[in-house]
Amino acid sequence: MNRVYNFSAGPSMLPLPVLEKAASELVCYGESGMSVMEMSHRSPDYEAIIADAESMLRKLMNIPDNYKVLFLQGGASTQFAAVPLNLIGRTGKADYVVSGQFSGKAFKEAQKMGYDVKCVATTKDDNFNHIPTVTKDMIRPDASYVHVCFNNTIYGTKYSYIPDTGDVPLVADMSSCILSEPVDVSKFGVIYAGAQKNMAPAGVTVVIVREDLLEYADPKMPTMLEWKIMAENGSMYNTPPCYSIYMLKLVAEWLLSIGGLEEMAKRNKEKCALLYDYLDSQNYYVAPVLEGSRSMMNVTFVTGNADLDKKFASDAAKAGMKNLKGHRSVGGMRASIYNAMPREGVEALVAFMKKFAEENPKA
Ligand SMILES: *Cc1c(COP(=O)(O)O)cnc(C)c1O
Repeated sequence: MNRVYNFSAGPSMLPLPVLEKAASELVCYGESGMSVMEMSHRSPDYEAIIADAESMLRKLMNIPDNYKVLFLQGGASTQFAAVPLNLIGRTGKADYVVSGQFSGKAFKEAQKMGYDVKCVATTKDDNFNHIPTVTKDMIRPDASYVHVCFNNTIYGTKYSYIPDTGDVPLVADMSSCILSEPVDVSKFGVIYAGAQKNMAPAGVTVVIVREDLLEYADPKMPTMLEWKIMAENGSMYNTPPCYSIYMLKLVAEWLLSIGGLEEMAKRNKEKCALLYDYLDSQNYYVAPVLEGSRSMMNVTFVTGNADLDKKFASDAAKAGMKNLKGHRSVGGMRASIYNAMPREGVEALVAFMKKFAEENPKA
């Protein structure tokens, strides 16, 4: 069976060279005589793997020395709770920008814990079709942090700017855009991301946190959620998600080998331009996201007819392009074109879209 072009929003495609390397080492890693899956996380072999994963990620993202890199479990959704628990102690209140479903969930999670949280901007009334403009004067100067979701996986929107929050630390969920392009880490207090979109298989969650922000944890918080404890223990307070971290290392190695995030960004821009240029050139499909907010990783579009949308996804799957159905909450189509999606996959999709439009005229 041939591999398909998999447009899944996550878990999603991994680079083929990474899968092949992992396969070649699956049963026996190096001279260890065992699989990475069977190794003690305290063994020298594994310690080298996790150290490499961290140093490669630091190199790729140019992470300053005063930031800790943590490899945690529980997915980005667990960080929705961990963020307030770790940071609220700064001032007792926090501000949120709600630009889609995940940032809404993050906001609700902080609210649920009874903290003083405020939604300072949202594009809910516009069906999240763009990113709100966030300015310093909207933010409470005594907020512990401002939380944003940098790329909205479901709606296909992305910040084209880094909000200026003054002295209030900016916390960003980058689950679906991390490693897609260079980002100035020093502009953020905390960046977190589940791995299964652009970094590794599900299982590991990366948290990049400025060291001075490790001092504000709610004393009642669960130990497993406390970044400071995890930082002090090199992400090994307990057993880390060993194999996912190993896969992350292979992905980072692959990214470095192709030229790092500058080269990746160049390829990603070209890939998404193929789709957006086509979408802008015709009127069979509509791209609901406003210009200036378009995601490079998740491209959403509709035909305007639910039956045609359904047929599109199923015909595409038959043609070797899978998982193009939009999120169950919004319908339509979504092409997730993360780092591992080759340009040929996007070209094949555009060709299919043209053909589908010709063969399925609207009544
Ligand atoms: C997928 C996703 C999440 C949820 O991640 P889990 O690892 O499943 O908890 C959160 N935020 C964003 C932006 C996502 O894309």
